[in-house]
Amino acid sequence: MQAVEVLQKYFGYPSFRPGQEAVIETILSGRDCLAIMPTGAGKSLCFQIPALLLQGLTLVISPLISLMKDQVDALTAQHIPAVYINSQCTLADLKYRLGAIRSGRVRLVYVSPERLQNEFFTNFMQTLPVAQVVVDEAHCVSQWGHDFRPGYGMIKAWVDKLPERPIISAFTATATEKVKTDMLALLGLDKPRIFRGSFDRPNLYFRVVKSQDKLRFVISYLQNHPRESGIIYVATRKEAERVYAEVKSRGYAAGRYHAGLEDEERKRMQEDFSYDRISVMVATNAFGMGIDKSNVRFVIHYQIPGNLESYYQEAGRAGRDGAPSECILLFHRQDVMIQRYLIEQGRYTPEKEKKELYNLQRMVQYGESHGCLRHAILDYFGENVSWQRCERCGNCQEETVEEDRTPELRNICLCIDELKGRFGSTMVCLILAGNATRKVLQYGFEHNAAFGLLADIRAEELRDMVQQAIENGYIRQAAGRYPTLSLTAAGRKLLQGQSRAVPIRRGTGKVNSAHDS
Ligand code: ADP
Repeated sequence: MQAVEVLQKYFGYPSFRPGQEAVIETILSGRDCLAIMPTGAGKSLCFQIPALLLQGLTLVISPLISLMKDQVDALTAQHIPAVYINSQCTLADLKYRLGAIRSGRVRLVYVSPERLQNEFFTNFMQTLPVAQVVVDEAHCVSQWGHDFRPGYGMIKAWVDKLPERPIISAFTATATEKVKTDMLALLGLDKPRIFRGSFDRPNLYFRVVKSQDKLRFVISYLQNHPRESGIIYVATRKEAERVYAEVKSRGYAAGRYHAGLEDEERKRMQEDFSYDRISVMVATNAFGMGIDKSNVRFVIHYQIPGNLESYYQEAGRAGRDGAPSECILLFHRQDVMIQRYLIEQGRYTPEKEKKELYNLQRMVQYGESHGCLRHAILDYFGENVSWQRCERCGNCQEETVEEDRTPELRNICLCIDELKGRFGSTMVCLILAGNATRKVLQYGFEHNAAFGLLADIRAEELRDMVQQAIENGYIRQAAGRYPTLSLTAAGRKLLQGQSRAVPIRRGTGKVNSAHDS
């Protein structure tokens, strides 16, 4: 049977989506592959179809019990013999499933990476013809990714112990260069063909709202978008309860979802949302994997998430049906503290913590950016795009005025130069504002030449100018735990009066072309 016949016969789809066929053919030709495709692209079929056509078993390594179950249920419904083996299986389940695998009836076996540590399971698999090992959510092998799983590190050694080397196919929706390098190095792929689908989602409208009064924004948004289905993501359970109560008390059909609720309530909420019995879901990031609702019209982030990957994944739950949808980030500097706290409480190794903080910093840059938001996202995912502005995101469409603020920027450079690369933007702003806090006094910075030089500028505006000076290449911001600032060569030239600064862009709060919200 041909791949396309399997697609039609078993899955009931007339044709492949872009990219699927090439991945399937690579696997069927016996070559390893790494497929980096966005959520919703249809990665599962890319290994499920080969599983039906290859001689031998396909082992799928998947990080989440709920995902495994969903996939196996879907396959079973399509009359494809598949089983999963995980810690929730009873002894009787296990016996039955192992028997079915041994009999050769089963095509796909789903396991968590930790199962590979089980000696009995390993010995069992060594006696079987394993044709394909699928590493689903392959980014979990990388500490740069947002859900690192140490168990993924064992896959390579485990595969090496099989009597015959299977084809390894790896799949992920995470596409940063750092993660990709790790996947290639750590999964033991042999001269893999690498596929990379575009991460652009043309129907999504991105915008960042620097709103002080978030609740007011949300309520007015809901008023203007009646009956539309949407998700409001918040950073903590407490916040989920609070925002949920506020939204509900105003008469909206809202639900809530976070890890502090009973399983039953979570299930009910998810179903109510899926079947449009409620339109707005207020949730933490616990609400996510496995949501396959196509008509989500907006995703509002009440606080920034910890990194751009999580952001794009969560925001990307909007508009799966291809219809125009909005992804709005409510950005407030103070929320960065929550994420920092979560990272610091995360009991990471120092190395991992540094990476997490770097990723957070990239997220903050998105929130503070004045450039094209779509470009920022695609650039983060390592996609080379030929344009600078999409002209259809909040930043591209906001009316801005340009102002020559060379004297102020020189003062910022002076301040940074005096601090000799030892402090970040918070201290720089305090000094320039002439704010003699305890910390400023402790270092004696009230005697610096830059102290109070920009006291007449509003704190927000000052921060924004520092940000733009970073974006425009006058200031370098260190990666990691302490994002300290130092001057670049261009910044030094500016400070020495040898150049004028690129004009500062200031949003007027108005939208250039008509956008209905
Ligand atoms: P991913 O894992 O890349 O996020 P999935 O494998 O879950 O995506 O697929 C997303 C949805 O697209 C599923 O509902 C799947 O059945 C559907 N799908 C996949 N391939 C096709 C296709 N060729 N034609 C139509 N629908 C498809």
